[in-house]
Amino acid sequence: MIFWTLFIPIIALFLILYFSYIDVLFSGKKRAYLIEGNEAKAPDSSEIKNTVVNLVVFAIFGALLDLSISKGITQIYSGPPKTLVDFLFLFATFFIALALHDVYFYWTHRLLHTQLLFKKVHVYHHQSHQPNAWSAFSFHPIEGIIQIAIVPLVAFILPVHEWVLMLFTAFLLFISVYGHCGYELRPNKLNAFNVFNTSLHHYQHHKYVHYNFGIYLNLWDKLFKTDHPTYESSFKKLAEQINEKRSLKTSNHDE
Ligand SMILES: [Zn+2]
Ligand SMILES: [Zn+2]
Repeated sequence: MIFWTLFIPIIALFLILYFSYIDVLFSGKKRAYLIEGNEAKAPDSSEIKNTVVNLVVFAIFGALLDLSISKGITQIYSGPPKTLVDFLFLFATFFIALALHDVYFYWTHRLLHTQLLFKKVHVYHHQSHQPNAWSAFSFHPIEGIIQIAIVPLVAFILPVHEWVLMLFTAFLLFISVYGHCGYELRPNKLNAFNVFNTSLHHYQHHKYVHYNFGIYLNLWDKLFKTDHPTYESSFKKLAEQINEKRSLKTSNHDE
């Protein structure tokens, strides 16, 4: 079977293309949601080249996972869930996988920001000062390995249904691309959802470098005081700007 060999790079590429052409797909309606400027930033050739290399890294890791599955050495199981407990277990393992990845991402990211690793590895990712969808996987292949290793790691340490692992992998790729796409698509989220990170949160990471290391939850950055001091006020300001642009567009349309 070569399912995982193809699944990871294909989903990653699909998401990059989706967010790259979101403006065209929604006939310009998403332009108001841009974090900076009136045009989405086009990728440069090094971002595309680095991404292609990492799609190959993802395929190699997918192939290793396929091989491990065929040898029966992972904890992945299949077959339709039969009881309510089976179903609840699916939900629980999805959130456990996300929680594991949240902690894994924050601390590996902090590690990548130590002097030597930053200079030799992570600096490639930070060459994207104003990120776009192609920046999401534009990094040194060693970082590609660190980032995608969470998928087999989950498969080895957590009894996980194949559907859950697929959903988890697609979700982590989705959030990775969303965090770089240059659009803040949820400007009016409820305050109760402030615990979840936003696209602006990672956008600021590329701008200010030493802040905002987290992926899903704005918990570890708060706890370890690495949230950018202006993050919350910048988010409010951006939400106001987006809403203003949207209402301007609607009134222009009505005239
Ligand atoms: Zn970084
Ligand atoms: Zn980034």
